[in-house]
Amino acid sequence: MTGCTDYVSGNIRKKDAVISDSDVSSIDTSMDYRSEYDGAQGSAGSLSGRTLLISIYTDDAGTSWDESTEDDSEMIYDALDNLRISTEYLTQQAERYGASAEFIWDWELNPDLYYKAAFDESLVTEYGDKYEIQKNWIENNIDTRALRNKYLADNVIYLFFFNTDYSNQVNPWYLGYSCSPDYYVEFCNIYVRFDDVFVTKPPTYAHEMMHCFGAHDLYYANEFIPQEYVDHLGKTYSSDIMYTVYDSKDITNDFTDLDAYYVGLKDSCEEVEKWNLAISEHITDN
Ligand SMILES: [Zn+2]
Repeated sequence: MTGCTDYVSGNIRKKDAVISDSDVSSIDTSMDYRSEYDGAQGSAGSLSGRTLLISIYTDDAGTSWDESTEDDSEMIYDALDNLRISTEYLTQQAERYGASAEFIWDWELNPDLYYKAAFDESLVTEYGDKYEIQKNWIENNIDTRALRNKYLADNVIYLFFFNTDYSNQVNPWYLGYSCSPDYYVEFCNIYVRFDDVFVTKPPTYAHEMMHCFGAHDLYYANEFIPQEYVDHLGKTYSSDIMYTVYDSKDITNDFTDLDAYYVGLKDSCEEVEKWNLAISEHITDN
């Protein structure tokens, strides 16, 4: 069983990272493919409609990929398999709540979903202060608008893959709208090996992607989830995928009503009032 660390808003929020309304409208697809999702909750809205997953194989100051080696090539194709398993899981869970959630992720079939990036700085860090660097890279190197139009995509999630070795102690994590309303580009940093023994597996992929749709971590107290609820999940041996992720290829973690509520598949959830949890980002006054 492994956890994951995530940046939580408020800790390290760059003062100069304020995004104006006009910037947000620049990802509005209304001039092009007319999605029902208006882009108001970041590049990924609710767990419904069609989601594009863009894989970015990333070199940074301390890690790099060499596809010509057997080890790296194997790891890259293993990640592709993990995308298949985790998206199948998410599609099945959405179905249970009457929603259709389709994912386009296979860069073997669609090579324009595969990118390579190189950075001078180290991006294997558990702090959120590198958001701008990665967001800027995406904006300068990926024609998201064209991809949205080509694939008729409602949501876009960017996955940066880092070829970390086992000595890496930073777990995979996410940055995006659920951390801060300023963060409208939603991406996951997948560190492929971590904590001495672990290879990142499909439950973690699903967990991180769920953040992009609005799910919150449930394994530590944060601005959305009080300690009492974290304790409650511990006492009841919760297997909620936002509370714990198993180190397995299959995903047997629970996708609960609370998760469904936070990713926009339910309008209410009794846990929220009972435990004084945050209101879902999908519940708006409008
Ligand atoms: Zn998390």
